Amino acid sequence: HEPVCECNPCYSGSDCSKFSSHCAADAGSGDPYFMEPFWMRHAASSAVLVSGWYRMGYTYNDESYISQLLVNHIKKLHETVGNAVTDGRYIIFGGGSTQLLNAAVYALSSNNNSSDTPAKVVATAPYYPLYRTQTELFNSRDYRYEGDTSLWKNNTDNDTTFIEFVTSPTNPEGKLTKAVLEGPNVKTINDRAYYWPHFTPLPSSADDDLMLFTISKFTGHAGTRFGWAIIKDKGVYEKMLTYLDLTTVGVSREAQLRTLKILNVILEEGDGKEIFQFGYSTMRDRWIRLKQIISKSKRFSLQKLSPQYCTFFKRVRDPSPAYAWLKCEREEDKNCYEILKAAGINGHEGSTYSGDDRYVRLSLIRSQDDFDILINKLTNFLSSEAY
Ligand code: PMP
Repeated sequence: HEPVCECNPCYSGSDCSKFSSHCAADAGSGDPYFMEPFWMRHAASSAVLVSGWYRMGYTYNDESYISQLLVNHIKKLHETVGNAVTDGRYIIFGGGSTQLLNAAVYALSSNNNSSDTPAKVVATAPYYPLYRTQTELFNSRDYRYEGDTSLWKNNTDNDTTFIEFVTSPTNPEGKLTKAVLEGPNVKTINDRAYYWPHFTPLPSSADDDLMLFTISKFTGHAGTRFGWAIIKDKGVYEKMLTYLDLTTVGVSREAQLRTLKILNVILEEGDGKEIFQFGYSTMRDRWIRLKQIISKSKRFSLQKLSPQYCTFFKRVRDPSPAYAWLKCEREEDKNCYEILKAAGINGHEGSTYSGDDRYVRLSLIRSQDDFDILINKLTNFLSSEAY
């Protein structure tokens, strides 16, 4: 069957070709529809049909709720891409990497030596807001959100455990980063949601103690809710498993099955590299188009990213970030979000990422229509503006 598609909210008509010029550009959420054309090309081979009787129980045949076949596919995937070391590591699954963020905080803080001082959970601004909001929601006695890493850089208190979220590349800026804090009492959660050739050069295979990955931005299946953690330490792995036991009894078996099918298409069809060529060229083209427009303006600027050697493509390659971190340069433009909103462009405010409201995050991973509308609105705004 032909897939049934809905029109982008900015278009109407039976073939979705009627554009409404009053419609705002949606560059807000990170819904990864940029991958949709790839999966339309692989519509039949990526389809999953599940009969009513199939796998109704809690566990697989080995009494676990983690599909070993899927673990093997994930290891093969990392080997093909060269973005993470998995040999001798433990792998567990979560309902998106979102569930694993707190599972990791729980596991690292319950190792805490001094039981009366809660572990300090920190991140470097601008950062993905869930690190703070989720940690505050759970409101545990074992850990507390304590703001930006810069506040604790010169801290010499060796009695307190620090749990530092390290995102590389970062959301929103797309920069490769390392932990800021150092010392025996610092533990890191390395969020690698964007560590794929689509979004960043890969300087090496990541080998951190605790790494989080997700299919959301990689294959684009954010709605499947599937993420995984790669863990060095057995004790930490066991605590994260306990967390999953006591909360959801693992990830939906249907989510695991769909992920298996999706990864199978990636690994088995073509040379196993097609998805990365597609993801990279799409994101690179978008970044080039956006940069061309913004470079003509004195009013706005973009984050600086440089070409860098990538071990996957085996050459120096251009930047291709998932988000633009757009800055309003004029002194009077203190609220960049409002400036863009008035021009019909909806992004996310800088303060959402604990950054300055002179910045707005624009999502570049949405559908081609969303991106084209964004470019159209920006072009119109800048040409009507100054000149
Ligand atoms: N980490 C980062 C940095 C993200 O941007 C996101 C999604 N926006 C996530 C984690 C969560 O992804 P998911 O739960 O869909 O796997």
